[in-house]
Amino acid sequence: MAIESLSTSSVAWVSAPRVAEVPTKPFRGQLFINGQWRDASGGERITRTSPSYGVVVGDYACATAADADEAIRAARKAFDQGEWPRMTGAQRATVLNKVADLVMERQEEFALLELFESGKPISQARDEIQWAAEFWRYAAASARGLHGDSYNTLGDDMLALVVRDPIGVVSVITPWNFPFLIVSQKLPFALAAGCTAVVKPSELTSGTTVLLGELLQQAGLPDGVANILVGTGPEVGSVMTSHIDVDMVSFTGSTRVGKALSAIAAQTLKKVSLELGGKNPQIIFPDCDWNAAVDAVVFGTYFNAGECCNSGSRILVHESIAADFEQAVISRARKIPVGDPLCEDTKVGAIISSGHLETILSYVQGARDAGAEVSLGGRSLDADGLYMAPTILSGVTPDMAVAREEIFGPVLSVLTFKDLDEAIAIANDSLYGLSAGVWSSNIDNCLAIGRRVKAGTVWLNTWMNGYPELPFGGYRESGQGRELGRSGIEEFTELKTIQMHMGPRTGWWLPENV
Ligand code: NDP
Repeated sequence: MAIESLSTSSVAWVSAPRVAEVPTKPFRGQLFINGQWRDASGGERITRTSPSYGVVVGDYACATAADADEAIRAARKAFDQGEWPRMTGAQRATVLNKVADLVMERQEEFALLELFESGKPISQARDEIQWAAEFWRYAAASARGLHGDSYNTLGDDMLALVVRDPIGVVSVITPWNFPFLIVSQKLPFALAAGCTAVVKPSELTSGTTVLLGELLQQAGLPDGVANILVGTGPEVGSVMTSHIDVDMVSFTGSTRVGKALSAIAAQTLKKVSLELGGKNPQIIFPDCDWNAAVDAVVFGTYFNAGECCNSGSRILVHESIAADFEQAVISRARKIPVGDPLCEDTKVGAIISSGHLETILSYVQGARDAGAEVSLGGRSLDADGLYMAPTILSGVTPDMAVAREEIFGPVLSVLTFKDLDEAIAIANDSLYGLSAGVWSSNIDNCLAIGRRVKAGTVWLNTWMNGYPELPFGGYRESGQGRELGRSGIEEFTELKTIQMHMGPRTGWWLPENV
């Protein structure tokens, strides 16, 4: 598509000073299988070019289907015969806490690798690594807290236990937008439960997951318990979802791949947990805290360049304030520091790939063609690297693609509503149901939306807070299952019922003296 790009002077462009230099040599990674680092059986490699600097920053052994099979067998053996599932929760917690310590010791190294591969700003990359370490610590605590139930209400001679067994071998498949955060939302919880795992990051952002392998070894995780493969979805991911020795697939990514992968996993009836896309509404009432709401809309739309499943990518504004509110958002969005991710001040970095940038631009063009107006941005930036101007589309109606589909870029769609019921109807008129928000000082409005909007998370007068204590996941095509919170570890378990009879038997189906 030949659309002219905008000059960087049309946004609050950021350049020097930088916190580090762009690497002259790529980070090199191997496959981590059964505690050994080795090249791929096919000898192939996969490289990653930084979307912000245009140089190769990652160079990895690219796994084949045979490598995936070997990794799964190692995980199977470690589960069936190894010590990890049989250790105490406290022993597993010690290893997971050690991983968290090591992550924090190497936070800057992780943050830079994430930045070079994903294009995200350094301040955000650092936060992501720190949050990931928190997840490892929370999972460690969960390892000690995991427990089942007991029933002594079944009669004097019966007692029953409901215990939680680790589910077995877990395939962990992750996307490119928050690579280290998302693997840390899954792997430590699977390990805490006593499972073993095979992990495949996105081929675009494999670095930090590969680096994690070193830390797992250093922390004393037994061989074969976690195996890490760099490779493509069709070659490696498909083995990880179809292999008979895999018991569960934990996937974060697009709804399209999530559906395809579920269909494959269904052939062997594996448990599947899915964290997928979203088209998350923020509903703005006239009695909102104006500044806070404007800031939340800007943050919700442009954080991680909008490449965020929780992006608040559509706002529903009460018609009485729509024009003024949109103007306030435009003024704030113009001030967002966009540019070089290595600069401390940058808030919006590069887009992940040229193909994805094209997709975002084609959504904007589609909106123009359907009658929406581009009131800010709408184009890529004329800069070295893949950058997009913060964009606002006004006059969007609920039937347009930009109101219904996940764009996964820095694009805000503005819709209006007349009253509470209409706001809820528009919010729910979506195949997705990941998150939603409301801005109002009227508690009735807030609670009505909290209760009636179909979404896994609803924020009332706040946006995109996250805590390891709270479950996360989506309704409808935003996924199935929940991560974090108590469910973080429980998702990786099977319930087993053990029934025990006490004392002499008092009768059976056909008594002897019949
Ligand atoms: P994709 O669905 O394209 O890919 C996700 C992962 O699946 C990658 O590792 C990919 O491998 C792998 N994969 C691709 N095809 C297959 C296959 N046939 N079998 C098994 N694995 C496969 O998503 P993106 O990486 O493009 O990530 C963006 C998407 O992730 C967005 O839609 C976003 O909403 C969603 N997301 C959801 C979150 C949530 O928690 N709800 C959080 C973050 C993102 P590869 O690409 O290397 O070939």
